Amino acid sequence: MRQAVRITAVLAAGGMAVVALTTSSNAQPTNDQSIQASAARPATAAADDHTDTVYVTGKAKDGTVSVTIYDPAKGVTPDQLREKLRRSGVTGVLAKGQQPPTAQPGQKQDKLLECLSYGSAREWCDHRWSYGSFRDPQVYFLDHTSSAWPVTNAVNDWYQAVGIDAYYRWYTAGCPGGTHCVNVYNGGYGATGWYGLTTWSPGTQGPVTVQLNDSYPLNANEHRTIACHELGHALSLAHNVSTSSCLYSGTYISLRPNGDDYNILPRIYPLSGT
Ligand SMILES: [Zn+2]
Repeated sequence: MRQAVRITAVLAAGGMAVVALTTSSNAQPTNDQSIQASAARPATAAADDHTDTVYVTGKAKDGTVSVTIYDPAKGVTPDQLREKLRRSGVTGVLAKGQQPPTAQPGQKQDKLLECLSYGSAREWCDHRWSYGSFRDPQVYFLDHTSSAWPVTNAVNDWYQAVGIDAYYRWYTAGCPGGTHCVNVYNGGYGATGWYGLTTWSPGTQGPVTVQLNDSYPLNANEHRTIACHELGHALSLAHNVSTSSCLYSGTYISLRPNGDDYNILPRIYPLSGT
């Protein structure tokens, strides 16, 4: 298939030049996939239901603030999920369009956070892994789940991404020193209106927790899609606006990340890798 490669330079509002190398196939519609960097959150997010994310903030006993993305079950809109959570006693449910905290209380932010998009893919703005002593951030998914959840396959899909290294480990192997770890659990959390959750403590480098809900009758493909979706959040991605990505919100169709998910990650994590 003939490939067209185009280089686009975008001067963002903050004066930072971003160069995007865009590869498009002639079979694709000619939408402009130029990358955009902005200090502000994407203005389009509130207008697009598929990027209308349900955020819940929490506070641990030690005062650490967390942000959880709740991913609605099929047929449940983000607004319906917010209402259901509030009615069931969940506190810290943010209103539609309200952005979660990007730092811990009293923590200074030394720069405005970047918020990248690429084609249909979006960055989770306040969530970016550090490199440590590596050329790519090292993220280990520690699998606590039953065999119904194909976490191995989902990690393998994300392992294909350039820019960040996603590894699989059974949880008893523990978290390697100097790396980041994401604990992935499943459980019968009830008919709570959600299939999956990802929890992150903003302004920190962890911990991240993924929870996958057994309380809905889901088939193997749906398990695969939801695992791919939550692991993508854990790597720093927000919702993708295309049904060709497992990060599309609301209906769980694609089993895998799409090309834009793979293209945005090396832009979020631009050091050339290991
Ligand atoms: Zn999601």
